[in-house]
Amino acid sequence: MSCYRTVGTAWRQFAAEHGEAWETAVARWLEDYGVHQLPDRYRWLVTEVILRLPEGWSSHCSCTIRMAGEGEVVREHYAEARLSSDADETCWRQAWEVVLNAAALNELTDAAIRGCIAHELAHVGSALLPTPEKYNLHENRADNIAKWWGFEEDLKVLGVVW
Ligand SMILES: [Zn+2]
Repeated sequence: MSCYRTVGTAWRQFAAEHGEAWETAVARWLEDYGVHQLPDRYRWLVTEVILRLPEGWSSHCSCTIRMAGEGEVVREHYAEARLSSDADETCWRQAWEVVLNAAALNELTDAAIRGCIAHELAHVGSALLPTPEKYNLHENRADNIAKWWGFEEDLKVLGVVW
């Protein structure tokens, strides 16, 4: 299936060059995103999305994904991408956190949740500092990046794409 092209090419090659089974390399990368501590359904769906992302999509940052806590406010209702520290003169990497709101997401289909995860990771990929004044700019970028990554069908199910 074309959606697993990243594993089939860049990741597999990287693992081979480092004398590692590609499954081990993939598991380690997924752990970097915090995927291992998500509940089953979300661990599976986040994994599906991450395995479809192009190489280097998060080379400018660290990114962890977690479920929202009880009563935690999640800005985009279903999920929120937060820039927890921006890059400065001493640190060129941004630190991002994606918070998933199970209370809202549980109602959605797998495809819609994938669209939502792709949209939030696209905010991360955009490297744009989220500010309320530039909300439309950031939403437009996130939807288009997620579309370029190949999530157009999932975004349509979620209802955010034309
Ligand atoms: Zn958004």
